[in-house]
Amino acid sequence: AVGLKDEKISEKSAKSAKYTSTEKPAYKEDIKATRESLPCFRSRSDLLTMVRDNQVCIIVGETGSGKTTQLPQYLYEDGFSNDGRIIGVTQPRRVAAMSVAKRVAQEMDVPLKEEVGYSIRFEDFSSPKTRIKFMTDGILLREALLDNNLDKYSCIIIDEAHERTLSTDVLLGILRTLLQRRKDLKLIITSATMNAAKFSKFFGNAPQFTIPGRTFPVEVNYSKYPVVDYVEAAVKQAVSIHMTTSIQSGDILIFMTGQEDIEVTADAIREKLVEVYRKKDQISTFEEIENIEIFPIYSALDPELQNRIFKKLDETKRKIVIATNIAETSLTIDGIRYVIDCGYSKLKVYNPRIGLDSLAITPIALANANQRSGRAGRTGPGVAYRLYTEESADNDMYASPIPEIQRTSLSNTVLLLKSLHIKDVINFPFLDSPPIQTLLNSLYELWTMGAIDNFGYLTKFGTDMSKLPLQPALSKILLNSIRYGCSEEMLVIVSMLSIPQVFRRPKEREKESDQARSRFFVAQSDHLTLLNVYLQLSSNRFSPKWCDKHFVQYKSLQKAEDIRKQLLRVMQKQNFSLKSAGSNWDVIRQCICTGFSHQAAKLSGLKKYVHLRTGMHTLIHPTSALYGMGDLPGYVIYNELLMTSTEYLVCVTAVDPFWLMESGLLLYDIKRIEESKETSDGLFNSNEVSKSEDSELLEAKKVVGDKL
Ligand code: ADP
Ligand code: MG
Repeated sequence: AVGLKDEKISEKSAKSAKYTSTEKPAYKEDIKATRESLPCFRSRSDLLTMVRDNQVCIIVGETGSGKTTQLPQYLYEDGFSNDGRIIGVTQPRRVAAMSVAKRVAQEMDVPLKEEVGYSIRFEDFSSPKTRIKFMTDGILLREALLDNNLDKYSCIIIDEAHERTLSTDVLLGILRTLLQRRKDLKLIITSATMNAAKFSKFFGNAPQFTIPGRTFPVEVNYSKYPVVDYVEAAVKQAVSIHMTTSIQSGDILIFMTGQEDIEVTADAIREKLVEVYRKKDQISTFEEIENIEIFPIYSALDPELQNRIFKKLDETKRKIVIATNIAETSLTIDGIRYVIDCGYSKLKVYNPRIGLDSLAITPIALANANQRSGRAGRTGPGVAYRLYTEESADNDMYASPIPEIQRTSLSNTVLLLKSLHIKDVINFPFLDSPPIQTLLNSLYELWTMGAIDNFGYLTKFGTDMSKLPLQPALSKILLNSIRYGCSEEMLVIVSMLSIPQVFRRPKEREKESDQARSRFFVAQSDHLTLLNVYLQLSSNRFSPKWCDKHFVQYKSLQKAEDIRKQLLRVMQKQNFSLKSAGSNWDVIRQCICTGFSHQAAKLSGLKKYVHLRTGMHTLIHPTSALYGMGDLPGYVIYNELLMTSTEYLVCVTAVDPFWLMESGLLLYDIKRIEESKETSDGLFNSNEVSKSEDSELLEAKKVVGDKL
């Protein structure tokens, strides 16, 4: 069904493709032919010459030209890892690192984890035999902590550098210095067709190479009117394409923002198609419709399901892939001719004024919109439908996306730089400097956490924190739990917070699953609810059956257990003692409060909360266990802030205001808390907030900044 590539496959293999499992490549010859058909292949020797002659080079190419899968293989074939060292390739996304490693292992016809491996946080699939290692950029950063010289690498490819993730940006800064010390290290930066000049300049005018590629024209259609509901609009468009074009004309790719709207879109398309076919062919369920398959793809999706999107369907079937921006450049799915772009993506956004990170659904930039549309023109002329008006694209969209370093909290980054003995973080060679305010806030936050001292040096506590592969707040509660005598429980809670989804909520069984979920509720706390789920599962010997019955995601829980064991090993290595709180779960809440006092809110009015530091009005997320107890608590801390049309606190725990004062001493002025107890409208009103934020920043400058 799909694109030109199928035409190349022989009769026999096309037929058998139907039956082969997704893990297996069709045939060896096909792989060779496929590899040689990629645009990269024609430049193979030029690329290798350039790498041999230069310490740093920038390689630019259209998405799908073979940069990620082919370059590391060329280097390997050319002997860059003959001395036993590794060709390391970083990816901004976990899913991409995994999926690409599997693909390359397949192409090289070796089992994964041997010559080809991958490593992502909490999941190491590499071995001493590994010569090509894919990993997230975050993993390479952590490796730099352990080995300042990254001696085991002969080559490092910073892939998808145009994504400009926080870790990629920091890595580039670190590597720039490292290259002076390690003259034998090769650095290759690859990028889709944006930003290349900037990278070249950053590395002393490093040479650029553009892989000649062929793309086909894509007809771009804008929505005539502003779209109110992009899910509904996408469903309509997809069904209309499917009903009015031949299946052979190609597959459909829909860009959505995240798991939630992807699932909703998939369901709605199924429903709509059943409705349409019912009239025509007397069909009553989606499964009876034989000419279509729907593939959701997002990072929390089971890896096996993720791999299915690459499966070739037979000619009578059409694929509809519904993806997050992972399909923008990281993953290339062949055969796409139609793209539907909702115009948004979910981004982590940091507001330095209020000092908070949040997940927000944000309009994409024009560069992203063009990337998305471009996905339709890889194998032939394509069509893109943008679910927004041309005016809004012109007026509301940035030309290119804002790099993560300029829109996210930098606490972890600052902690990491300090651990690398880079004391003067403000003058670190950043490709684009982060806002100075964000840096100061991070310094201040780390100082309030006790990770750095008045002189800007890492404390013992900060050093311990940097050893844990966790966000500072989570590291803090885990370390404090030793003192509070609840480290066994905290290990579980922190691990449970590190997995995407604990509960299942299958369609048509929502009520039943909500009830099952509520049976785990611990009235005071979502964190303790997570603990409760884990403990019950563990007393049922991790039975998949038990999970199924109680609507618990077995695979996620397995993952949490795996993470727990890894963190346990880190703790034991540091000789930290492990203790259980027994039945005293209040102590656990108190300990959680020590790491999250900056993320606290106070009840003000019916069900409404006001953020203690910012005065922002929020609600507790509807899935919270706190709704299971009669009255809502006066004070809460939360794990994550979700900004949709309403601001929600996700994963919440009730706390005693005195705990907040104790652990937030540096954040909150006790006298003012006492005073405001008499007033009814929350702790701070917004005017006061900006005043208090200002003085905090002055403090940060005075106490930390000036002394750096
Ligand atoms: P680039 O990095 O330049 O965007 P890639 O190396 O990712 O290009 O992709 C090259 C080709 O490999 C594409 O045609 C893509 O569809 C194919 N490919 C990548 N991963 C897989 C996979 N898991 N299964 C099948 N094909 C894949
Ligand atoms: Mg790539």
